[in-house]
Amino acid sequence: ERVISSEISNYDEPYEQSLRPQLLKQYIGQDKIKHNLEIFIEAAKMRSESLDHCLLYGPPGLGKTTLASVIANEMDVQIRMTSGPAIERPGDLAAIVSSLEPGDVLFIDEIHRLNRSIEEVLYPAMEDFCLDIVVGKGPAARSVRLDLPPFTLIGATTRAGSLSAPLRDRFGVLLRLDYYDEYALTSIVERSAELFNASIDYESAGEIARRSRGTPRIANRLLKRVRDYAQVRGNGHISLNLATEALELLQVDPRGLDHIDHKLLMAMIERFRGGPVGLDTIAASIGEESTTIEDVYEPYLLQIGFIQRSPRGRIVTPSAYEHLGMPLPIERND
Ligand code: ADP
Repeated sequence: ERVISSEISNYDEPYEQSLRPQLLKQYIGQDKIKHNLEIFIEAAKMRSESLDHCLLYGPPGLGKTTLASVIANEMDVQIRMTSGPAIERPGDLAAIVSSLEPGDVLFIDEIHRLNRSIEEVLYPAMEDFCLDIVVGKGPAARSVRLDLPPFTLIGATTRAGSLSAPLRDRFGVLLRLDYYDEYALTSIVERSAELFNASIDYESAGEIARRSRGTPRIANRLLKRVRDYAQVRGNGHISLNLATEALELLQVDPRGLDHIDHKLLMAMIERFRGGPVGLDTIAASIGEESTTIEDVYEPYLLQIGFIQRSPRGRIVTPSAYEHLGMPLPIERND
């Protein structure tokens, strides 16, 4: 099991729900997004209108689902949650949207995985709050228009680029979530520790934060493991020593890389002289899916500057060589 994997929210563990902030002021970090949302929400409330449709995008585990429920709470409305792959037929979507109350939020996770025929049902629903449904079969078939209550669609995706242009254009608000800095993540760890009733000092929270790849989901997961370790090996208090020991045991290195990141970088270094090498070739050489590498592993390695993209493929940077204690290849004195 990959401790630091931050994959899709469907794999949420039960405790995650209890750690979710309810209101914007409890939502740590992402300040630009919060400022924008505060204004949109207040304006919509002043006009007694539903909020514009919002698209949230960014790597997994950064708080998209959480933010969607925070928005619903701030708007004082209900939220219905579903995901792109869960909506199989146009009728599934019709059933969901026609059960919404005025102003409700419909959250569609992994919205880039909606199939085309469903997207087409969604367009008039988003634009004019109505559904065009075909009833009957053959020559007797006719289209019926069904009015819907005004609602807010919040779509979440790890890959905004995979969304079709007509769908993307129908969102009034596009918000990109970024990796969290160390300070924001430290606060998240401290907040979660308090909710877990775990005692932790600032240095230990910082150590967990630094190894969490800028991702709250990973920070919470590491905190939980470290708490267990401190309970069994110590007196329950999470000290820096215990935290570091536990994190070493979990094979999460000081920059938050785990054995899969190491495997990926080492394969690029040892088999391809550090690149450039194509994504599919890397994927085949370490036995992972290209899309998993692209969505889950690579964004953080790009973010911390351990990998670069070039037209001819991915390149391992000198700082990654240094981190791994590997000598640069002779002809690559870049
Ligand atoms: P995503 O939908 O982007 O995959 P989630 O919304 O499921 O991510 O967030 C994963 C976990 O991280 C949640 O359980 C939540 O507790 C925590 N989390 C995310 N963002 C924040 C934040 N800004 N402040 C505090 N906790 C957060």
